Amino acid sequence: MQLPRFDFIQPATIDEACSLLDERKGDATVLAGGTDLLIELRRRLRKPGCVIGLKEMRGLDYIQKDDGGDLRIGALARLQWIESSPIIAEEYPALAQATRLVAVPPIRRVATIGGNLSLDTRCIYYNQSEFWRSAQADCIKLGGDICHAVPKGRRCLAVCQSDLAPVLMALGASVKIVSAEAERTVALADFFTGKGEKPNVLAPGELLAEVIIPSDGQRAAVYEKLRIREGMDFPLAGIVVSLGTDGQGAAAGARIVLSAVGPAPTRIVEAEGLLEGKRIDDDLLEQVAQVMFERAHPVANLAMDPWYRRKMVKVLTKRAVRQALETAKAN
Ligand SMILES: Cc1cc2nc3c(=O)[nH]c(=O)nc-3n(C[C@H](O)[C@H](O)[C@H](O)COP(=O)(O)OP(=O)(O)OC[C@H]3O[C@@H](n4cnc5c(N)ncnc54)[C@H](O)[C@@H]3O)c2cc1C
Repeated sequence: MQLPRFDFIQPATIDEACSLLDERKGDATVLAGGTDLLIELRRRLRKPGCVIGLKEMRGLDYIQKDDGGDLRIGALARLQWIESSPIIAEEYPALAQATRLVAVPPIRRVATIGGNLSLDTRCIYYNQSEFWRSAQADCIKLGGDICHAVPKGRRCLAVCQSDLAPVLMALGASVKIVSAEAERTVALADFFTGKGEKPNVLAPGELLAEVIIPSDGQRAAVYEKLRIREGMDFPLAGIVVSLGTDGQGAAAGARIVLSAVGPAPTRIVEAEGLLEGKRIDDDLLEQVAQVMFERAHPVANLAMDPWYRRKMVKVLTKRAVRQALETAKAN
């Protein structure tokens, strides 16, 4: 499949990129590593008049601590840098672990953290060629008014497929968003809209510039990912558990994020509350896993039976809690 025609511009600075995005507001898309966007363009899922290539841009390619001890990762930091960063390995190992589960090394060499968080949601009725899609009416994500995955469905439930998003959410991360006019910082939990057709709050003209992980981000975090092929696959369900202990073996400050079963990763506060101040035994684990199961509502829009994905949420939750607890006790 050939790429459609578009203007391709490569700004050298963030200011230049913001001005271009402002000038071509609504008509421009940014290209970082291109590992996802190029496929979407080839499939005519997007038809921008202008693509702004960030590859030559300076100023957003760093992983560094600021004076307050928070970790700042520029949007153009490659996934390979994240998986091999000594600071991340030492202080946020779950982020390195999740990054290693994204695609394969050649993709991670060019893919960026900004692209991973801004990744479009996926659905088997959407991620197809234009020819394949022409056999049926446009779905909600394509601007139509029907959902092929859920008969009579009125909402788009295309799935968030970012492996980094749930981990960063559990670590309490936020993102810095810039435009020609302003700059704002948004907690990652508020970055995702929960709408399959418009998965994040980025407005036309805005650029995700930086990811900020607070220094108090909990460290005993574990990511469990369900996928068909261990070698390379998007997540079909994902669970992140991060927790500490109170020194006497009881869980403290748990955060649990459910992902890849709907349009946005979501913290499940009810499950977190069950763990707070408790010693974790099999009964408690079963209760927490049951809450996660009840909150997961995958539909038939990815290449695996949704009922199986839902049941696996329970299994993955138990695995992640056990592992996080062991790590927390060892720390
Ligand atoms: C075979 C294959 C397997 C994959 N497996 C996985 C997987 O297992 N897990 C996973 O998480 N991903 C997977 N991916 C998706 C993708 O490779 C990664 O998510 C990657 O991190 C995307 O980053 P990128 O820089 O290539 O983004 P791009 O493709 O350049 O962009 C992706 C989207 O983000 C937008 N964007 C990029 N940067 C910015 C920015 N700074 N500000 C605003 N918008 C921006 C683009 O406009 C586009 O909409 C896979 C891709 C392929 C081809």
